[in-house]
Amino acid sequence: MPRDFLKNVRREYDVIVIGSGLGGLTAANVLGRTGYRVLLLEQHYKLGGLATWFRRPGGHVFDISLHGFPFGMIKSCRRYWTREIADSIVQLKNIRFDNPVFSLTTEFNRDDFTRLLIERFAITQETVHRFFDTVRAMNFYDDQSMTNGQLFERFFPGREDVVRLLMEPITYANGSTLEDPAITYGIVFSNFMSKGVFTFQGGTDHLIHLMERELRNNGVDIAIRSEVDEIQVRGGRVCGVRVGDRTIGARAVVSNANLLATVNRLVGPEHFDRTFFNDASAVRLNNSSTQVYMALKPDDKIDESTGDLLFSSTAPAFRTDLLLDRNITSRTFSFYYPRIRPKSPPRCLIVSSTNARYEDWADLAPGEYEGSKQDLIETTLDALDRYVPNCRERIAYIEASPPRTFQRFTQHLGGSSFGTKFEGLMVSRELPKHVRGLYHAGSVGIIMSGWLGAINYGVIVANDVDAQLTAAAIG
Ligand SMILES: Cc1cc2nc3c(=O)[nH]c(=O)nc-3n(C[C@H](O)[C@H](O)[C@H](O)COP(=O)(O)OP(=O)(O)OC[C@H]3O[C@@H](n4cnc5c(N)ncnc54)[C@H](O)[C@@H]3O)c2cc1C
Repeated sequence: MPRDFLKNVRREYDVIVIGSGLGGLTAANVLGRTGYRVLLLEQHYKLGGLATWFRRPGGHVFDISLHGFPFGMIKSCRRYWTREIADSIVQLKNIRFDNPVFSLTTEFNRDDFTRLLIERFAITQETVHRFFDTVRAMNFYDDQSMTNGQLFERFFPGREDVVRLLMEPITYANGSTLEDPAITYGIVFSNFMSKGVFTFQGGTDHLIHLMERELRNNGVDIAIRSEVDEIQVRGGRVCGVRVGDRTIGARAVVSNANLLATVNRLVGPEHFDRTFFNDASAVRLNNSSTQVYMALKPDDKIDESTGDLLFSSTAPAFRTDLLLDRNITSRTFSFYYPRIRPKSPPRCLIVSSTNARYEDWADLAPGEYEGSKQDLIETTLDALDRYVPNCRERIAYIEASPPRTFQRFTQHLGGSSFGTKFEGLMVSRELPKHVRGLYHAGSVGIIMSGWLGAINYGVIVANDVDAQLTAAAIG
């Protein structure tokens, strides 16, 4: 008989959270800690969503999305998770750029970028300070009409090299383009510039294990392999969810699933007014990614001066469309040294990530698909050889994952790595005005995506749910 993953689940909860990405996990934890009866439902057999990992024979453990996040994670993890989680966050000090225009290593913070902009790029101190102060002061409520391209033109007219230094890592980090609103860049860039780039020592598996333990300590019920088919709505308010033939009641539902899937598939158009539904349907998905995972032979080591994160490109100029092209010219290499996973067998691992368009991979016939994966592996090895000489002979294990893999594991439409474009944030925030008790806490619009954005958005939405349930209790 198949195992019943909902065996110990009650008939009714205060809140049901659909999806265990970092946003869903955090919303569930904050609400559980506040004293609500919370159920977390995850369709996959693992918690974490895109914050995930996989093991391969030979002691290799690969992280999918643990490449770097801003310092703010320490505060968010300490406040909304545990001190143990916060204390495991460590800095990545060697961030490298290598492209036809410049090659440099930086700590990726304001001090070091100020130095580089003045000394290497000959920008005046006054302009550099004004630029940093301007982006630092940006916030969500600002005018959103200025684009990133306009922001750079204002401070560094005609300086493609400077734009590349400032923009390329953020485009890798969240898919933002020169045409996106400048505030999305300003907020994320400033977050990184405050103190640099950080990672979680111990790996994603350890982080998710600690989070699961904390959720259970806070009384949250968790069911994996439990795909929600429907969010049930009666009289304009949510009343529960359906998982297969099982219905579970709830006063509020937080969906951590993709925003468009939440509106179209889980709730359904009939529960929204037409204007809102049309606005929601017009929200654009963010791009997807391809990755190549590589493990060096056990006794082989990479010198740490190779870098922690390396933004490499052979493209002569920075153009956001080139970063998505099937003909890959830009790759971000993450180098994982044994100290990052002190409890695992000592291994040097490399993950190459590239932004990608789902459409380029979606309809390939099986033979073509495998061929394209092999091509991705070969071209990645060609590119890596410059930084890890003779890498073909030194690598013990290699595997590639195109956009379809991301879709399969998270059910994100289009294998989207960062949810939706910026306009998704407005739709996500408006949901409870259209269906009472319906919330969304998942990657939307650049600011609310990535590890830190997802965690912080989970907190914001948990507070909204708390306010609604408290008001209902008083009323
Ligand atoms: C290749 C790659 C590299 C990245 N690198 C970085 C990085 O270096 N730094 C960084 O900060 N961010 C990075 N990110 C982004 C970051 O991982 C994500 O923005 C963040 O983890 C998303 O969290 P989330 O809360 O939106 O949920 P997600 O991780 O998207 O999870 C959603 C969850 O909902 C579940 N679900 C969906 N539908 C249902 C359903 N019907 N029923 C039940 N469960 C459901 C899914 O299975 C999934 O577990 C990267 C992403 C990718 C793809």
